[in-house]
Order: sequence, then structure tokens, then C-alpha cells
Amino acid sequence: RTAFTATRSYATNVAKYNGVKNANGNYVVSFIEGDGIGIEISKAVKKIYAAAEVPIEWESCDVTPIIKDGNTAIPQAAIDSINKNLVALKGPLATPVGKGHRSLNLTLRKTFDLFANVRPAKSIEGYATPYENVDTVLIRENTEGEYSGIEHTVVPGVVQSIKLITREASEKVIKYAFEYARAINRKKILVVHKATIMKLSDGLFVETAKEVAKAFPDVSLDFEIIDNTALKVVTKPSQYNDVVMVMPNLYGDIMSDLASGLIGGLGLTPSGNMGDKVSIFEAVHGSAPDIAGQNKANPTALLLSSCIMLQHMGLEQYGERIQKAVLKTIASGKENRTGDLKGSASTSHFTEQVIKNL
Ligand code: NAD
Repeated sequence: RTAFTATRSYATNVAKYNGVKNANGNYVVSFIEGDGIGIEISKAVKKIYAAAEVPIEWESCDVTPIIKDGNTAIPQAAIDSINKNLVALKGPLATPVGKGHRSLNLTLRKTFDLFANVRPAKSIEGYATPYENVDTVLIRENTEGEYSGIEHTVVPGVVQSIKLITREASEKVIKYAFEYARAINRKKILVVHKATIMKLSDGLFVETAKEVAKAFPDVSLDFEIIDNTALKVVTKPSQYNDVVMVMPNLYGDIMSDLASGLIGGLGLTPSGNMGDKVSIFEAVHGSAPDIAGQNKANPTALLLSSCIMLQHMGLEQYGERIQKAVLKTIASGKENRTGDLKGSASTSHFTEQVIKNL
């Protein structure tokens, strides 16, 4: 399996990109550098892109949240930039636990209606884990479910969080999953759910899938209960290599971290947040406060997310080159791998090696 095939399986070409070149002949992409290790890994991406002469100019976006009447908003300049450029690359943004502003990640997904979160996890050549030949593709509903942010205290000591599922959002993400399966030539959609317990909410997701499937006679449809999927994925992940999984928001969040664990951890797993108009590409991981500012972070997940972005923009020849260099660096030995991959390389050493391997 070549690195090129790996890029291919990350295809997101079901959504149309309508970006235009600027006067310098470059594409302009909005860049949210993020918090914590976001700063370090964003720097690595910019350096590698400059060395690879990718025809992209970065437009830096400040997303320091604006809190008004208890609501979280993104600064208008950042919204305008992303609406203009249609594509953004994003580092991780920290979210306060319990109190404080609402997740900016959530706010971004809501603001641009990024309804499908594509999360592939593929074994990395040259970095062995106990799991061989992992190639899962998971699509997470990205706008509702337990992430709707509807919570209240009923009486002291009793709280309620609403899991919101709508036919409209379910239909959009399931349709996207079918189109995505066609684009990467997988023949089956697997809906992962818990409709045995959440009969109405997950039940609606399941029923919607049956309806949507009627328009895709060439792709088969199957269902699995989430706990069963969790067991089967860690027992033999390769049994999911010919399917595209689609699931409600929280299940997708958890199952994709699980899939990351199979291939070597969060430092390796990319994602794309896809909307009808705008797409935002980001690593699956967070701001890693435990290693932030220490030149230890692995920039691979953000780099691979950017390779998906390049493919989405029709610049796959650059994405392919960068991905090959990243994989070659990881395979080249412990001294060139970061600590999360049991290596001794710093972020900056890894970055230099990727540039050498371009
Ligand atoms: P995390 O993903 O930041 O870290 C989990 C573990 O993985 C840590 O031990 C960390 O050191 C390690 N890790 C993650 N990325 C790594 C990388 N690139 N290289 C090396 N090691 C890496 O999860 P967390 O600690 O639960 O969350 C920290 C913050 O990030 C929270 O505020 C959370 O809300 C936020 N977060 C943001 C996003 C996002 O922006 N999309 C996603 C998840 C979490």
C-alpha cells in the first residue's frame, strides 16, 4: 500500500470547493492556530508548506471568544475570513470544563453548519502497533445530539441535558456518508447507534438512514449497536475496512478516539469538518496542556488534516508529497519520532526531517 493510496482513502471530494486564486496566483486559506500545542504544530505546518512551495497564503484568524449575555460568539473578522476563503485549517481550541464559555469548536461547527465530521484512521507504515491493517472511516454527525448545549437544573441536585436529534441533520450527514462511500469506493454504510435504549432519538437516526438509502441502491446499509461495534473494532479492526461508519455526535467523538488508539494515538489522526459551503480541517486531538510549550507535540495529525484539505482543494499533488514525507519521517526511526510515538524527536526536529524528506 503506497502513501498515495493512503491519501486517496482520505478523499473528501464529494463537497465542492469553489475557492479562487488571488492576484499572486495563490489560494488563500483561513488559519486558526489554536491554543496550547496548537501554536507549535501550526508553526510546523507553515514551515513545511513554505518548503514544499504549496500555492497557499494563510490568513490568520483571531478567534478569541466574544461572550455576550452568556452566549459565545466568534469575532466577525474570523467569520468573514472563513466565509470568503471557504476553507480553513484549525489548531485545537481549549474549552473550559464545567463553567465558562461554550466550546468554540462547537460554535464554529454551528456557525458554518459543518454537519459532517470525517475521521479516517489508517495504520501508519513504519510505526507498528498491536493492530495491523487498520483503515476505518467514521463520519460523525457534527451539529446536535448531546452537543446541543441544552442543559438545565431541574431542582438542586438534579440536572437535565437534552440529546437533540432532528430528521434534517440526520438526513444531511447520512446522505454525505453515502456519497463519501461512493467517492472512496466502499460498498457499505454502517449506522452505529443505541436505538435499543434511545428509541426515539437514535430511532429517528436509524429510520432516516433507511429512507436515505433508497437513493443509493449501489451501496448497502447495515446497523450495529455502539457497544458491539466498540468490542468488534478492538478485536479485529480490519473487518471495518470496507465500510463507512456513520453515527450520532457523541458516539462519533468517542469511537474516533478509540480508532486513533489503534494506530498509535491522537498525534496521528486527521479530520475534516464538512459543510455545504465551508470546510474546516483539524486534528482530532485537543490542545494537550500537559505538553504545551515544550516542543514535544507531534504535528502529524494537523499535517495529515491539511493533506485532506489539499485534496479537497484539488491540490492533491502537494498533499501527496507532504504526506509521503511525513510517513517517511515516522518510519525512519525513533530519533525522528516524537514522544507520543515512543521517539525522542522534538517538534522542531521532526519538522526539519519532514522538510528534508520532501
Ligand atoms: P488532548 O487531545 O489535548 O490530549 C490527550 C492526550 O493526548 C494528552 O496526554 C496529550 O499530551 C496527548 N496528545 C494530544 N495531541 C498530541 C500531539 N499532537 N502530540 C503528542 N501528544 C498529543 O485532550 P484533553 O487533554 O482531553 O483536552 C485538552 C483541551 O483540548 C480541552 O480544553 C479540550 O476541550 C480541548 N479539545 C479541543 C479539541 C478541538 O479543538 N477540536 C478536541 C479535543 C479536545
